[in-house]
Amino acid sequence: MKKKLVKLMAMAVASVMSIAVLAGCGGSKGGDTLVMGTNAAFPPFEFTTSEGLVGEFDGIDIAIANNIAASMGKTLTVEDMEFDGLIASVKTGKVDLVVAGMTATEERAQSVDFSDTYFVASQVMLVAPENEDITKAEDLKNDKNVGVVLGYTGDSIVTDTLGVAEEKITRANRAIDIVQDVKNGKLDAVVVDSATGKALAEKNGLKVVEDPTVFDTEEYAIAVKKGNTELLKQINKVLADMKESGEIDALAEKYN
Ligand code: GLN
Repeated sequence: MKKKLVKLMAMAVASVMSIAVLAGCGGSKGGDTLVMGTNAAFPPFEFTTSEGLVGEFDGIDIAIANNIAASMGKTLTVEDMEFDGLIASVKTGKVDLVVAGMTATEERAQSVDFSDTYFVASQVMLVAPENEDITKAEDLKNDKNVGVVLGYTGDSIVTDTLGVAEEKITRANRAIDIVQDVKNGKLDAVVVDSATGKALAEKNGLKVVEDPTVFDTEEYAIAVKKGNTELLKQINKVLADMKESGEIDALAEKYN
């Protein structure tokens, strides 16, 4: 009898201890840390720099997520990964939220829940400054080598909406890599989100070509695991506050 009680007590102590350990670890298991998933190759939303806002990470999305963490009394941790893996990582709970300039598409909304919109963008084409034969989206179908980032909305527009031939499409994991190929002539154009495209074009001396008749507006939102309404509510509250105070506009200006 006595032995059993001791064993039970030991088990209780052990489970309290393991809860404490888990809480201390943070991660997406709760505790003091809010874990954000992103692909930090998407300036001005997320990029790496020697002295970032959170470790080496900086940008509009990092600042927004930092505010969300602070509003919950937590510290932000940034998990940098390929864009294509972000949805899976929030689905499995590896990260708490995805803040990655992610367009809230219907298809993605089948796997995750999206916050309110915090930024509106569209796709643009980046071409060499002397390029005169790409002036509209349809021109990309004219035997042009086109670069996109794997799994981005730009990929699905070039592939499905425009129907550019598969062998003419180059898919990369990071926009910054294919921009180099426009510079060195391997690609005729890169299709990428507008704010990022403008930043990359300026940095690399490329020309931005827009075509709103084909490239619709896209709404950026934050993704959480389906059913995580508590976190979603908190995110929307912070976003609403930041919109109302003009902080999001100020961030866009600062990082552009
Ligand atoms: N807005 C685009 C998308 O959601 C690109 C996002 C990104 O590169 N981070 O697919």
